[in-house]
Amino acid sequence: MKLFKRLTLVVVTLSLSIITLSCSDSSTGSDLGNDPMEFNSKAAPGDSARSFLTANQYTSIEVEIDYMPGHEPTQEGLNSLQTFLEERLNKQSISLTNQTQISSGDQSSYSINDIRALEEEHRDNFTKASGNTLHVYFLVLDGEYEQPNVLGVAYWNTSVAFMGKRMEDISGEPPVSPSEEKIESTVFRHEFGHNMGLVDIGSPMQTDHKTSGSAHCTTDGCLMEPSVRTTDFFSNFSGSIPPLDDLCIDDLQANGGK
Ligand SMILES: [Zn+2]
Ligand SMILES: [Zn+2]
Repeated sequence: MKLFKRLTLVVVTLSLSIITLSCSDSSTGSDLGNDPMEFNSKAAPGDSARSFLTANQYTSIEVEIDYMPGHEPTQEGLNSLQTFLEERLNKQSISLTNQTQISSGDQSSYSINDIRALEEEHRDNFTKASGNTLHVYFLVLDGEYEQPNVLGVAYWNTSVAFMGKRMEDISGEPPVSPSEEKIESTVFRHEFGHNMGLVDIGSPMQTDHKTSGSAHCTTDGCLMEPSVRTTDFFSNFSGSIPPLDDLCIDDLQANGGK
């Protein structure tokens, strides 16, 4: 029995390490006291893809944005995300206006567990199984991620976090460095792509285009390319936000999106 427990611990630890390797990997938290009649807000990214894409039940989306001091998302970044969501999701309304400054976490680096704890502390709005509004949590941090080159992470089915300080650090004056607005626009869209079930984590692939080992797209120049969430991508950035390629769009459309 003891050995079994130890093995279980090893498996849990391994799973947690895998989560930190990808901005889109599945969670281990689906057992955190969720009433089966309630919407589970601690499921893996992509698990609620259809709730995002279709209007079968949730006809509107409200994004609760909490940001640490100095890292309010730019209006251009949010407008770009809004456009992207309107292009792909069958919703009557999409709101990105509920913004609140929260206190600094006072850390130079945040782990996935730190991020989840911050959500526990600060998130106010949750989706109801019986409601019509899908609530999403959007957190902007004042430090870097545990993997310093990562700029964003989709960590639950309706939760995304962004490394505000890191995005600011690598931004500058175009064309020498990308603007903060362009970095945000790109990374915001990429992480929401995971919540929409890309690639093959809730929106099944219509054609094989998944990278091995992560939920990303093999098409060069696609928004869901693996590098798009990292600083590496922006060190060689053309200045235009990468679009979703046809294969990613096919998956979303086949799953009830636009
Ligand atoms: Zn990603
Ligand atoms: Zn793609």
